[in-house]
Amino acid sequence: MSFRKEVEALHPAAHDLAHRRWIYVPYDRLTGRVGPIGEQSASETGIVIVESTAKALRRPYHKKKLAVLISNMRHFALEQQARGVAVLYRFSPLSHGQALLALQRELGLPTLTCTAPAERELRLDLDHARQSGLAIEFAPDPTWASTSADFTETYGPFQPGKSYVMDRFYRRMRQKTGILMQGTKPLGGQYSFDEENRKPFRNQVPVPMPPSFPPDCITEEVIEMVERTYAHHFGTTRNFDLPSSQPDCDRFWRFFLDHLLPHFGAYEDAMRDDHLQLFHSKASVLLNLGRLLPLDLIRDVEARAAAGAASLASCEGFIRQVLGWREFMRHIHEQTDGFRLLEKHVPQEEHPRRQEFSPDRTAAAAEAYPSSQPKDPYAGARPSALGASLPLPAVYWGVKSGLHCVDTAAAQVVEEGWTHHIPRLMVLSNLATLCGFSPRELTDWFWFAFVDAYDWVVEPNVLGMATYADGGLTATKPYVSGAAYIHRMSNYCGHCQFDPKLSAGPGSCPFTALYWTFLERNRARLQSNPRMGTPYMALSKRPEPELVQLRARAAEAVADLASFRRPEYGH
Ligand SMILES: Cc1cc2nc3c(=O)[nH]c(=O)nc-3n(C[C@H](O)[C@H](O)[C@H](O)COP(=O)(O)OP(=O)(O)OC[C@H]3O[C@@H](n4cnc5c(N)ncnc54)[C@H](O)[C@@H]3O)c2cc1C
Ligand code: SF4
Repeated sequence: MSFRKEVEALHPAAHDLAHRRWIYVPYDRLTGRVGPIGEQSASETGIVIVESTAKALRRPYHKKKLAVLISNMRHFALEQQARGVAVLYRFSPLSHGQALLALQRELGLPTLTCTAPAERELRLDLDHARQSGLAIEFAPDPTWASTSADFTETYGPFQPGKSYVMDRFYRRMRQKTGILMQGTKPLGGQYSFDEENRKPFRNQVPVPMPPSFPPDCITEEVIEMVERTYAHHFGTTRNFDLPSSQPDCDRFWRFFLDHLLPHFGAYEDAMRDDHLQLFHSKASVLLNLGRLLPLDLIRDVEARAAAGAASLASCEGFIRQVLGWREFMRHIHEQTDGFRLLEKHVPQEEHPRRQEFSPDRTAAAAEAYPSSQPKDPYAGARPSALGASLPLPAVYWGVKSGLHCVDTAAAQVVEEGWTHHIPRLMVLSNLATLCGFSPRELTDWFWFAFVDAYDWVVEPNVLGMATYADGGLTATKPYVSGAAYIHRMSNYCGHCQFDPKLSAGPGSCPFTALYWTFLERNRARLQSNPRMGTPYMALSKRPEPELVQLRARAAEAVADLASFRRPEYGH
């Protein structure tokens, strides 16, 4: 039986509509383990889930992202139905807010409860529907490991021109939660074990083969629908292998705990073209859907440290990512209203050509997300502290450039919609920052191309950490490097036509020339940054004839990248 028939066959009776507490479950909060679903018995609970075509068409989202999200939504609906919860599952061409409004009017549903939406876009959409009459109330979202008060108690009231160092927040969260703490002291005597982590990977230990999650009939049906309805979107559903049911999500996580965590810390910054996941968890996709919960993961990892099943350095390295970076990033997004509050403090990018694959191009989306205000509240912020504005080239769509590190990472994104943190930061974003590609365009690309991307996490990572477009709010200096870093941390350069040890001339690696010319180009803005002293000292020692060669090599590299045509998406 198709999913539609299965879920409709169990449509709630009139009695249920009137007598249950109805909860709207957003697409990214698929959990009954915490939150309003568990606050009363299953027989007193009803949930509403909306599968919105308008939302899916808003950007040319990776087909695997749509598949994993929709398949998890459908599995979640049936899992809840099986425990006695009444389920209203609505397929709609409208936005989530408008679909809920129509449903409430049609069925006379009482006021809905919803946890405060994580995505700004959903908040706006629901607010808009509320103004048109949707009766909905918001409850605190217990799936986060921290609250907004934790952020403001750490740093004081938000100030747009300030720098926010994540480590302060992380230490405070360790103290507040007692995680990896011995009384008031951090376990092992220090909060960070970064010096023990971050080694290159040279096959020191075997890399375990992750478990497989072949699509069941629900997922098969979703994949077929995605291929039909979203044929023009980025990426592929080929070899779809992500969990969709709660037991599979839990098995996926247990594999990380048992087999990957012991080596996570040591090799968290290493990159390989033969082991793309290495010891990373890939948990982001399920965490960001609510199928895995951050505090559960943190407690599981803490227990492994206590049992000696993984080193403290590895466990701390993982907990820092989830309790530190993940929570910090979402607060930065919320505090800055998705970087809109920086408008008067950081130079902004002006570029009408960005409309090429902006959400506004999709007619269905424009209709579903109307904007009555002179300034479109859905339009993404465009900080560009370093004045970057070049168009994103075809290599990000998987067109081969000859730069093996970039081609490897881009091919993985096209195929899987995922790479681990370091190819995102030190390859894909590093290239963009060095070349001066538009931070907004890069953000939009990350947003539609990655399976784990949502506004609250992708915008601070790209506009903040990865490109320094926010002028140093999120990162105290730009994360940029020449070939030396990539060469040290990966096996890419051994399989590349370019030589990472040559900085200019035929066969030289473009990253190095791009790095030095980036420093030159941004001297006025970056030279006084205390953390940039060493690179600027090194730049000052380069003789002018070498700088001339570097400039020529960098210009040639940017022109080469721009010469490929890219496929069009999103319309
Ligand atoms: C340019 C750029 C774009 C990114 N876009 C996203 C995104 O769209 N969605 C997303 O979830 N993460 C994003 N990240 C953060 C990070 O790269 C991914 O969370 C991580 O690579 C996901 O793989 P994993 O689950 O194996 O992570 P692991 O290495 O196993 O880490 C464990 C968890 O820590 C959390 N985490 C680690 N670093 C961050 C971070 N900087 N911000 C938020 N959470 C973090 C994630 O939830 C992750 O699952 C981005 C980073 C960069 C540099
Ligand atoms: S040589 Fe340069 S372009 Fe090639 S893989 Fe290494 S860093 Fe990348």
